[in-house]
Amino acid sequence: MSICFINGSFEDKSSASISIQDRGFNFSDGVYEVMSFQKNKIINFDKHIKRLDRSLNSLRIIKPMRNFKSLELIIKKLIKLNHLRDGFLYLQITRGSSSRNHLFPSLINPNIVIFTFSIKLDVKMIKNGVNVMLSDDLRWKRCDIKSISLLPNVLEKQNAHENGMYESWQKRDNLITEGSTSNAFIVNSKNEIQTHPANNYILGGVTRDTVIDLAKNSKFIVKEKAFTKSELFKCREAFLTSTTARILPVISVDNKKIFNGKPGEITKTLITKYNELIKSQSHE
Ligand code: PMP
Repeated sequence: MSICFINGSFEDKSSASISIQDRGFNFSDGVYEVMSFQKNKIINFDKHIKRLDRSLNSLRIIKPMRNFKSLELIIKKLIKLNHLRDGFLYLQITRGSSSRNHLFPSLINPNIVIFTFSIKLDVKMIKNGVNVMLSDDLRWKRCDIKSISLLPNVLEKQNAHENGMYESWQKRDNLITEGSTSNAFIVNSKNEIQTHPANNYILGGVTRDTVIDLAKNSKFIVKEKAFTKSELFKCREAFLTSTTARILPVISVDNKKIFNGKPGEITKTLITKYNELIKSQSHE
């Protein structure tokens, strides 16, 4: 039996339910986080919480818990109840349930749901890299909010999959913003690591943030500056980042090889450093 946390209680995931008047269900009026945990330790918890707090504040959704320490305790209990050590968790907070009306209800309690899930890291993809396609970024101008409204992302990810690609990198005004489920990086012709700045056009990924810090600490130059399609095709390396995929080398874009079509050395160094960081955070 898989246990989830729902509005204050731990319940069987297969029978837990939420009102059909939930505003997440009716309006996508909610936010989410996906976190990973290893050896029962939540990886990059503080960064996830900071982003969650920001997303909630941006949408003026009331926090369902007094402080985030209690959230950490709830998550740890959930991991324990599910007899897990390593895995991922999905956390969703919506504005709450009320009769359908676009206007915010004056009195409303947020709905919170947390459940765990597992995905195996794909060793082959980490070693050999993945293929990516390009698409137009059709999303709104508040991509920095981790909103549950993900329809453009869902359609793009499906489109990539149906074209035999792992991911779709979106472009707005000829600048690559990010993937449908991950952040996009290149190593440019000057050997600088380059990625879109964390503004309203991308989701500031926790992994993105962590990788930038790791890269700077390893004396690489990092430029948070959007790159164009032509810069992408002239780059020496490309990679993507997310909590679930960690760091994946990108070896082709729109069926054109990136450099020699093999994972680059800087990407491989960052993968090693990132794995070491996760190990250190999950040290018992
Ligand atoms: N951008 C988008 C659009 C995403 O959906 C995700 C994954 N949720 C990311 C970037 C990566 O964010 P993170 O590293 O925090 O998982």
